Amino acid sequence: MPTKYIFYTGGVVSSVGKGVTAAATGRLLKERGFQVAVQKLDPYINVDPGTMSPYQHGEVYVLDDGAETDLDLGHYERFIDVHLSRVCNMTTGQIYAEVIGKERRGDYLGGTIQVIPHITNEIKKRITAVAKATGAEIVLVEVGGTVGDIESLPFLESLRQLRGDLGRENTLYIHVTWLPYIGATGELKTKPTQHSVAELRSIGINPDMVVARSDYPVDKSIIDKIALFCDVDKRAVVPMVTSQNLYTVPLLLEEKGVAEYILEKMGLQARRKPDWTEWKRLTAQVEKTRPTVRIALVGKYVELHDAYMSVREALKHAALHLGVDVQIDWIHSADLEKGKSLDIVSAADGILVPGGFGSRGIEGKIQAAGIARTGKIPYFGLCLGMQLMVVELTRFALNDESANSTEFDRTTTHPVIDLMPDQHEITDMGGTMRLGLYTCKLVPGTLTQAAYQQEQVEERHRHRFEFNNAYREKLAEAGLRIAGLSPDGRLVEIVELADHPFMVGTQFHPEFLSRPNRPHPLFKAFLQAACDRAKIETHPLTANQVPVKDKN
Ligand code: GLN
Repeated sequence: MPTKYIFYTGGVVSSVGKGVTAAATGRLLKERGFQVAVQKLDPYINVDPGTMSPYQHGEVYVLDDGAETDLDLGHYERFIDVHLSRVCNMTTGQIYAEVIGKERRGDYLGGTIQVIPHITNEIKKRITAVAKATGAEIVLVEVGGTVGDIESLPFLESLRQLRGDLGRENTLYIHVTWLPYIGATGELKTKPTQHSVAELRSIGINPDMVVARSDYPVDKSIIDKIALFCDVDKRAVVPMVTSQNLYTVPLLLEEKGVAEYILEKMGLQARRKPDWTEWKRLTAQVEKTRPTVRIALVGKYVELHDAYMSVREALKHAALHLGVDVQIDWIHSADLEKGKSLDIVSAADGILVPGGFGSRGIEGKIQAAGIARTGKIPYFGLCLGMQLMVVELTRFALNDESANSTEFDRTTTHPVIDLMPDQHEITDMGGTMRLGLYTCKLVPGTLTQAAYQQEQVEERHRHRFEFNNAYREKLAEAGLRIAGLSPDGRLVEIVELADHPFMVGTQFHPEFLSRPNRPHPLFKAFLQAACDRAKIETHPLTANQVPVKDKN
């Protein structure tokens, strides 16, 4: 079958939920036996989000191949349970870098380089490259931003051209919009949706489906109105009311017959009946009243929860599988330095210190690790959180407050975390960290190995600094156990503390591989330890209730 393409655009407001809609429709198609991949087109001129502040952009999501990508790729991977590739995130920066590089080499043989066709051709080339790179039969393509933005015009023009290039039956356009609610009259308004569809049509794209997001129930008259004014079938106007639990979205779209409509339009037949048993069981857990376990997440960008999207989701996955509810107390690490929020952290059932860069708030995170160590509170350190757990222990064990990571103090007497040797010569900041999947050998007899039940694992990385091997012995005496190492034994990947219920730090980011149907073993073990501390009885889903690993 020819590769099929579904294009997602957004209207009215940003953050309207295009990413989740694309991810959820991807799941509907996968449930019907199709190989699916999703690609995000980001209109900004950065080559990738790797060098952007999380305040600007939210989390940087890392793929197996080390690509630093938009956080929507996290939604795609979690909903569809796929491993995506570098080609699945394209930015304006990448397109221009490529085209200008070719121009400098003389590849265009004297031509004038223009947005159409040179930029649009490069965009189209990268869209059609996804199927080959991922083996997908249906490629979903989400355009970042909102229709009407200047920056996304070349992307939209490329999508318009693709209908002609690839054929009407092989392309489908889905426009995701927002229905504002006027409190005074108690009405949902369709006018912004009409205008945004009109804008899209002026570019030459007639959407085949309109997904209308709303905080309030959408009645039939609204659907009829959108169908009439936007020239789409009534069946293709899909109201999507805000849900507290993201993972209900595929079920919602299933109920509205979205997959049937898509398949019909593209001349496809489902290969199997979707089986939502496990998915329903998981989402049903959310509806249940469950005991609450409290986790203090001590970070630097806590005002913006999107900066820790995968960590939050991984905690939720583990909680669903243990039959508990997780409440995250978002703690600003700089507050701890001022003596604020210490009571919340000390009273938490578990403390999690996620990844991060730069010196702001570092001492607060070290304090959090100290509270966890001395109070025997379960602690989970991810990347920077692992490094600071080591710094805290060193300060205590060697009785020297100046121990540090050289990221924060170049002249420290105890550089217990130091730049990796191959990082010394690097001057470019973009895409030059130790990135992506690396193997880690687990040490038998450790908490970590008991959690994973495997001899070795592969996890995703994003760091420049590492544990300084000169401190292995000294810290072993203080109770630090190395629980995971690179296959050559050189890089410390996981540490844990002896005589502590659960104090584990990973140099990698386990949060990127957690899935709603397959929570990450370390997140599960951490949350179990937190529940034990809070004397909360867990009800783990039994083996036959847990979906098996699903390969796409
Ligand atoms: N800043 C640290 C490093 O580069 C930690 C990185 C992270 O937490 N992702 O090693």
